[in-house]
Formats: sequence, C-alpha cells, structure tokens
Amino acid sequence: MASKRDYDLLVIGAGSGGVRAARVAAAHGAKVAIAEEYRIGGTCVIRGCVPKKLLVYGAHFAEDLEDARRFGWHVEGAKFDWPTLRDNVLSEVTRLSGLYTQTLDNHKVKVFQERAVVTGPHSVRVGESEVTANVILIATGARPHVPNAPGCEHGITSNEAFHLEQLPKRMLIAGGGYIANEFAGVFNKLGVKITVVNRSDAILRGYDAQIRDRLLQISMIKGIQFLFNSPLEKVVKEPSGALTVHLATGPVECDAIMFATGRVPNTDGLGLESAGVELDKHGAVRVDDESKSTCPSIYAVGDVTNRVQLTPVAIREGQAFADIVFGNKPTKVDYSCIPSAVFSHPPLAGVGMTEGEARNSLGSVKVYTADFKPMKNVLAGRSERALYKIVVDGASDRIVGAHMIGPDAPEIMQVMAVAVKAGLRKSQLDDVVAIHPTMAEELVLLK
Ligand code: NDP
Repeated sequence: MASKRDYDLLVIGAGSGGVRAARVAAAHGAKVAIAEEYRIGGTCVIRGCVPKKLLVYGAHFAEDLEDARRFGWHVEGAKFDWPTLRDNVLSEVTRLSGLYTQTLDNHKVKVFQERAVVTGPHSVRVGESEVTANVILIATGARPHVPNAPGCEHGITSNEAFHLEQLPKRMLIAGGGYIANEFAGVFNKLGVKITVVNRSDAILRGYDAQIRDRLLQISMIKGIQFLFNSPLEKVVKEPSGALTVHLATGPVECDAIMFATGRVPNTDGLGLESAGVELDKHGAVRVDDESKSTCPSIYAVGDVTNRVQLTPVAIREGQAFADIVFGNKPTKVDYSCIPSAVFSHPPLAGVGMTEGEARNSLGSVKVYTADFKPMKNVLAGRSERALYKIVVDGASDRIVGAHMIGPDAPEIMQVMAVAVKAGLRKSQLDDVVAIHPTMAEELVLLK
C-alpha cells in the first residue's frame, strides 16, 4: 500500500488480537508498527489464560497426591512451595512473551515499547513522537473492574494474584464468574481458606444451571464457602493487618480480598475522542461487523470492543481485520456456537444453548444427561460425579447445546463443539461407537 504516512498499520496493544492482526497484515505486505506500554503478549499470555492454567495444573497435584494412595503410591512428606510454582510460572510467561516478540520481529513489525495515544484519524503519539498511519487498530484489551466502595484499594485483582509474595491464610474473592471460580479452585487446593462472595444469587451466569449447581456442590464439599446476595459495602484494614469486609449480609474477616467482578475495556486516556471514535456505555469501542469504529480509518478488536471476552475470539477478529483491510479477503467472524470453559476444580465447559435458553426459544426440547462417577474417582474414593448434558431440538433432532462438568471437560468439549457447530443430529451421535473405557464415551451413549 503506497503511503506518505509512516506506516500502513499502527496497532495499539500487543495482546492476542493485536499481535495476530499485526503479523497477518505484515504477511499481506503492509508496513506495520505496534505499540505496547507493558509486556508483549497481553492479558492471555502475561496475566490470564496461560499463567492461570499453569496454576490450575499446580493446584491439581494436591488431589492427585491424595488419590495416589488408593493406587498404591505413598508419597511421604509431600509439601507445597508457592514461590517455586509462582516463579516457574512467571519464567514461562517471560519465555512466551519472548516468542511473541520474535514473531513480530520475524514479520518485520516495528515494536514501540511505549504508551500510544490517538491524536487524530491517522496519527498517534507514541512516547514523545508523532507517528502516522493509514489505519489504526485499537487492541488495548480490558482490565479488572474494582468496585469503588471505601477501602477497595486494599484489595488485589487477578493481575496481582500471580505475583503474591506468600499465600494468605484466608482470602475473600468478590464475584462469582470465571475468574472467581478458577482462582477459588486454585487457592483452595493450595491451602488458602476461600470465601466467594457475589452480589447476586448465582455463579457463572450464562452457563447451564445444572452444571453450575454441580460446581457449587463440589466446591462446597472441597471447603470453599459461598455467600450470595451479599453486595460489598466497604473494606477496613485492621491494625493487625487483617481486612474486615463489610457485606450487606454482615462482616467477614480475611487476610486478602481479590476482586473478580468483571473486566472493563481499556479506553481511558486513549485519545479516541480526537478521532471521533464512539464508545458504548461501558467504555467499549463501538464497531461494525468488520471491526470498523465510527472513524473510517480506526478499527478495534478483542476485549476493548466488549463483544466476547475470549482470546480465541480476539485472535479471529484480528485475523479477519487484517484479511479484510490488507488481504483483500472479505471475511466475517462467526460468533455462533463459541465453546467456552471454566478451569475450576473440576472444570466445566459448554457450547450452544443451555437447557433454559432452548426451552425459551424452541417449541420442543429433548435433554439427555449422563450423571456418573468417573472410574478414577471411584477407585480413588472421591465422591465427585461428572455431569454431561446435551440439548436437542425435538423437532429436527439437531443438537443445539452441550454442557459438561468433570475431569478434562474442556478437552472433551472442544471436540463436541464440532458436532454442535456442524448441526449434527442426536441420531448421528448415537451412530458413533464408544471408546471404552473413557469418560467421553458417555456422549455417544446418552439415552
Ligand atoms: P465474569 O463476567 O465472568 O463475572 C463477573 C462476576 O462479578 C459476576 O459474578 C458478577 O455478578 C459480578 N459483578 C459484575 N459486576 C459487578 C459489580 N459492579 N460489583 C460487584 N460484582 C459484580 O467476570 P470475570 O471478572 O470473572 O472475568 C472477566 C471475563 O474474562 C469473563 O467474562 C470471560 O469472558 C473472561 N475470562 C475467561 C476465562 C476462560 O475462558 N476460562 C477465564 C477468565 C476470564 P452477577 O452474577 O450478579 O452478574
């Protein structure tokens, strides 16, 4: 693309969406720069999916070591050392961030390690210099929301959870969504006494009710305490260092409070008003189907648009943007049947309609469930049961949703999502021969 401007594309934010867009646009022949004020990799790599999943693995050893006894293994004197896990996870993050940087270098993308502020439809201030570009892509992600009740500054968010000097004895986690349940599972297994507190009466809104209930039951058996309908009023730091968290339902004492109460788009102070980029009421960049904002030369992808806050979605949006704008390939991101998972203990996953959604929108609904104790849990003497559920449109026999909780549910769901996305019928699942003995075979044996 010929241009008098410095770059064809300037991306602000080197997370999953921004890096994908930069690299693909460069591969299409564009001259690309990317500005990042913190570390290359963004939320997923630096303070989200990746380090979280590694902590989940780390925490799971607590159960594995317990269960091992019934399989004949006696591991005497096993003890857990938080700094070892923390530092190993943080080194892995550094390694991955390096790989992302290398990818950008390999594609000849100029990296500005500075904060960028939009100054007009084609201009950005990067540090002290003014840089111009034909197209600007906003991929600045989102950050944890912290309630503005008095004393909330004494709390942490998932950002800090990866860096704790030491684990607290008692932690209160505010929120009942993805982050609350994932970190509750991790820290509980690592020996922290966890209380999850939510403003409303449910966890993980959006997931199938039966699956959420199962997680709640299992989490309580594991020793996690839940308080519902408990809006937070204030946090008081006591002279002892402990925190008293005042909830509408009464005070709770803890040693640390973590806010997992949603994430807000990073648009503050980004100068978007200087280019006429409109934001929605949550501060997210308003975009059309092609990720174009209300300024024709400025696009946005990923969490900053608050469409679906998931890394694989941001990556697709970044890819589609680069293909449309620099590859001359009309592309539409398909938002239907996006599978998702919560890496709780045990994990849960879902795709398509929940039973409730199907009953509200389809004339006839059939639900098939398998409620079973995985073989390994039986021998281990672990009471946890898995629950698999598929939701079928009674009129067409098409599978419209699948939901599960149990060991490896996200791994199994990734493949089941193919069936749901492809619009397979229940009878086609029945045609498949089981792999025995597995947990996943339950999906082809549902009666
Ligand atoms: P979630 O949206 O999952 O959950 C937010 C929780 O906080 C809900 O329980 C909600 O309550 C409560 N809440 C929301 N706003 C307030 C408020 N103003 N005051 C008090 N409580 C509030 O957000 P998370 O922070 O857990 O995660 C953010 C997003 O990041 C997720 O939505 C997900 O898209 C993504 N993510 C994905 C993961 C994965 O794929 N495994 C892992 C982690 C994050 P209520 O129920 O009443 O609405």
